[in-house]
Amino acid sequence: MPEGPETRRDADKISRALLNVPLKEIYFKFPKLKRYEADFVGTKLILSTTKGKGFVLSFDNGLSIYCHLQLYGKWHIGKSPKLNTNREIRMELQGPKKSAFLYSASTIEVLPTDKIYSIPYIKSLGPDVLDIEYEEVENVLNQKKYQNRSLGILFLDQKFLAGMGNYLRSEILFQAKLSPNAKLKDLNIECKRNLAKIAKDTVMRSYKTGGYTVDEVLLEKRKKKRISRFESLRFYAFGRVGKDCPFCEGKIVKENSQGRRFYSCTQCIDKFAAQSTD
Ligand SMILES: [Zn+2]
Repeated sequence: MPEGPETRRDADKISRALLNVPLKEIYFKFPKLKRYEADFVGTKLILSTTKGKGFVLSFDNGLSIYCHLQLYGKWHIGKSPKLNTNREIRMELQGPKKSAFLYSASTIEVLPTDKIYSIPYIKSLGPDVLDIEYEEVENVLNQKKYQNRSLGILFLDQKFLAGMGNYLRSEILFQAKLSPNAKLKDLNIECKRNLAKIAKDTVMRSYKTGGYTVDEVLLEKRKKKRISRFESLRFYAFGRVGKDCPFCEGKIVKENSQGRRFYSCTQCIDKFAAQSTD
């Protein structure tokens, strides 16, 4: 499933194609939405953004479309629909030059823009890391109700921080040299501040670069070794079981955390834990 950064990049693509231009036509696959099609002809998209992993498209007719890709949904932005796909178009927003095609998504709703926050998913979300400064992430990390919970659970929980997902959880905790089993109450002030900074920086880097969590120094180092595959370049540890740890002499190991894969370096975690308790 795409995580917060990928979702926001899709919303940006929709903006670039359709913002402030009158829609020529709109198509909904679901019968319950058909009655809205006429309401959107000639209207302009005024905001395309995301809340966690949900999309909010607001129009100048006072209506908004909320949709969520879940596992199989996918956007395609272009002049015509995708060829060679057996996915079904569930929604099409047709602009004068480009259109946005939404494939396979099962959650699409139309509602007055001022009612967007009544959608249970959006209402339940914590602050979106893309939209807040690291100090606010730090405030979340300091909230009492989370202190007794493990990082592996929290960093997948959209109520804690919206937009998080499995690769971000792994990459953030790896850089912070923290075990997914550690609880927030075990971390001192500096450690929480460091974790908040890493979380914010990692999410922003992935958003800006289109999915790279590694910093520029490591990225350049890998490129010099003639590594070119996106999947081999992008992550510190995720999906890199058995490879060298970029921070120490250790190797990356794969474990299971909350039923999802998680990658770590035992040496880094042990060394950091020993330092923190000194
Ligand atoms: Zn290491």
